[in-house]
Amino acid sequence: MKTPACYIRSMQRIIALFDIDGTLLRAGGAGRRAVELALSEVLDELDEDVSLHSVEFAGRTDPWIVRAALMQYGVAADDDLIDDVLRRYVGHLPRELERASAFEVLPGVLSLLSELSNRDDLVLGLGTGNTETAAYAKLERGGLDSFFGFGGFGSDHAERPELLRTALHRGLERTGAQMEDARVVVIGDTPHDVAAARAIGAHCVAVSTGGYEASTLQAAGASLVVSDLRASAVRSAFDRGTPE
Ligand SMILES: [Mg+2]
Repeated sequence: MKTPACYIRSMQRIIALFDIDGTLLRAGGAGRRAVELALSEVLDELDEDVSLHSVEFAGRTDPWIVRAALMQYGVAADDDLIDDVLRRYVGHLPRELERASAFEVLPGVLSLLSELSNRDDLVLGLGTGNTETAAYAKLERGGLDSFFGFGGFGSDHAERPELLRTALHRGLERTGAQMEDARVVVIGDTPHDVAAARAIGAHCVAVSTGGYEASTLQAAGASLVVSDLRASAVRSAFDRGTPE
């Protein structure tokens, strides 16, 4: 039988973009503590202990969190000050991560990432509000850093849909695929992840390991909600051509 000489069937590429906190791991309060230490250095003239328990962290980007924290202390947050706090934050983070006895990689994460990383039709990326440095510090603590070669980060953009768009473009560059040949799957744990995924036209797997109820994630518009990443249904989200 004669084989067509110049016939190459385009293969659908899957770009998986994982959130970190509450999705892949729990940092055991290390992030919050490192932000508090950074802020206490910048705000030391206030002469008070910095506590950020009224600032919502889940699903937010690092620059958003720092801006909200500065506003809580009545400080006008310009970009230079936010960058200064973030630099101090990533300086404190490794030590706080080491000290965080409650740090944990969430159930099913290691086997899912191991499985997906062996596929040649899929690239593993990040879509996280962490700055790039903070993201890799957390992943390294959990032994997960080598799975991820690219992503969109809080250091790229303070708004989650925009950092996901950045991650998507980087994923397309890595695969050489066109947008129409890509299936984009965002995996996150908050309604912010779901909203951002929808904003870029991605499928969204929401996992309720971050504290949000399954019903809340469903109502936000997740394509699939699972209790943790051991769920077999998660694998189907990475099948090529799976309808929404
Ligand atoms: Mg999260």
